[in-house]
Amino acid sequence: MTIETSESVESADDRPKLDFIRQIVADDIAAATQDGRVQTRFPPEPNGYLHIGHAKSICLNFGVANEFGGKCNLRFDDTNPTKEDVEYVESIQEDIRWLGFDWDGLRFASDYFEQLYEWACQLIRQGDAYVDSQSTEEIRAGRGTAAHPGTDSPDRDRSVEENLDLFARMRAGEFADGEHVLRAKIDMASKHLILRDPLMYRIRHAEHHRTGNEWCIYPMYDFAHGQSDAIEQVTHSICTLEFETHRRLYDWFIEKLGIFPSKQYEFSRLNLTYTIMSKRKLLELVESGAVDGWDDPRMPTLCGLRRRGYTPEAIRGFCDEIGVTRYNSLTNMALLENALRSDLNKRAERRMAVLKPLKVVITNYPEGESEELEAINNPEDAAAGTRMVPFSREIYIEQDDFLEDAPRKFFRLAPGREVRLRYAYFITCTDVIKNDAGEVVELHATYDPATKGGDAPDGRKVKGTLHWVSAPHAVPVEVRLYDHLSQVEDLSKILDEQDWKTCLNEHSLESLTDCRIEPSLAEIPVGTPVQFERLGYFTPDARSSTPDKPVFNRSVTLRDAWAKMQKGKQNGK
Ligand code: ATP
Ligand code: MG
Repeated sequence: MTIETSESVESADDRPKLDFIRQIVADDIAAATQDGRVQTRFPPEPNGYLHIGHAKSICLNFGVANEFGGKCNLRFDDTNPTKEDVEYVESIQEDIRWLGFDWDGLRFASDYFEQLYEWACQLIRQGDAYVDSQSTEEIRAGRGTAAHPGTDSPDRDRSVEENLDLFARMRAGEFADGEHVLRAKIDMASKHLILRDPLMYRIRHAEHHRTGNEWCIYPMYDFAHGQSDAIEQVTHSICTLEFETHRRLYDWFIEKLGIFPSKQYEFSRLNLTYTIMSKRKLLELVESGAVDGWDDPRMPTLCGLRRRGYTPEAIRGFCDEIGVTRYNSLTNMALLENALRSDLNKRAERRMAVLKPLKVVITNYPEGESEELEAINNPEDAAAGTRMVPFSREIYIEQDDFLEDAPRKFFRLAPGREVRLRYAYFITCTDVIKNDAGEVVELHATYDPATKGGDAPDGRKVKGTLHWVSAPHAVPVEVRLYDHLSQVEDLSKILDEQDWKTCLNEHSLESLTDCRIEPSLAEIPVGTPVQFERLGYFTPDARSSTPDKPVFNRSVTLRDAWAKMQKGKQNGK
């Protein structure tokens, strides 16, 4: 059994404190509960694509299994035929693998339908379940409220024989949807509403993506989940806090059936600022065309984050950092962004690109000539080496890097001022060319050949260093800048009844179609994040890029909003 990696721990004393789930697992191993065996599972319903919230659950379930020498199954909770699809079954597997995990068993709750049916019959025979023929409304009304006990169904005392017969006929397809349900016979007066004769099966004449039309009755979540755990001998069934009240029922079924005693543990789900985190709502965004599919780079889905340029390492690092607790809270999106920054800072190569080009003609540079200048690929990683960047008489700089009437503290280009061009020369702005509308369209400058490589032999200093590209060599590209999909910070405050789509940020996508990149950037394979010097991390888009016109997604800015926020906090802001 290992509970930590060699890097994370030097000695037993500075062993990182385990989160409460890992502590339970460690204690169970120490007590040899279930012979010290650890079996977890990740149980998605294949009704949508995985999102960053699922990543938290994946990292926990697979992480616990890996760290404690256990096993983790991927189990599709596919008991709801009308909402599920093989498209989702496939994407979920792809996303888990991409995150860096692999499952021991690949399971489907639908594989257990026959076993679940037999167990339902067992409960009927034991007098623990009955067929109820009331309407949905009658059943709801009979359940009572927190303050008032429920009332027994008139069908509650049906004989075992009658129940078995009706249940078999439900299965055989003799009844229409809603005509009967199977309920557990527990206690209509229980103070726990979940125990007031919960539904176990409903009739649903619908084609299932795996079992086709074999079944027309489907188990409810509560009668499928715990039993599937027991079949797979799951020792630690880890789920989110909203299932806490279900635990009583989970245990009740296991006890009545006398099956493997899986145990359920709950942790708080991930909520992120400005992020819509529900497959149902994300599906609405996709279907309404508000986004460009499940993998739109603004989506919090794993495929969206991947297309945006997020790395599995960044997402796993984020999940590590937020930890696992039982307190519901709202996690700042800046934390996720920062996890990407710190991963890419180590690994992403640096390049130069100009998003809003302004031409500069270097009037004392020989016409028709050019040269190659050496540039460092990654100052954080010497092994990344260097590359050659072309330089010539005409270059582009960023429009924002020039101001005609610049204040003293503007350390960029302005008339008469000198700046450094990264890896190239010092230049001084000599003329400003304007169009008839008075807009700056071009600059003239002179360069100092003695400053080649970026330093002046006479020791004179410049405050600003600008990125640039050589105009005749640069490749035109489109760059897409993204902002939060939601303009509301805490979406959990938005009630379901309210139209949450009014929270959408209309300016979440800005497309810049006239950007220029240095030639070596055109060769970066799609999906590989790079740093555009001074601008942020960008990734060639896997879907929209063509050989003629690459499209880059801004993955994350360089600005460290998180550090800034922390500083603000320290200053009591
Ligand atoms: P959604 O509401 O987005 O559809 P879900 O809970 O219905 O999510 P499932 O496919 O049932 O999605 O979830 C699979 C597993 O992922 C469950 O164990 C669930 O608790 C967990 N999970 C889902 N969302 C989150 C989240 N935001 N944070 C942590 N775990 C989550
Ligand atoms: Mg669900």
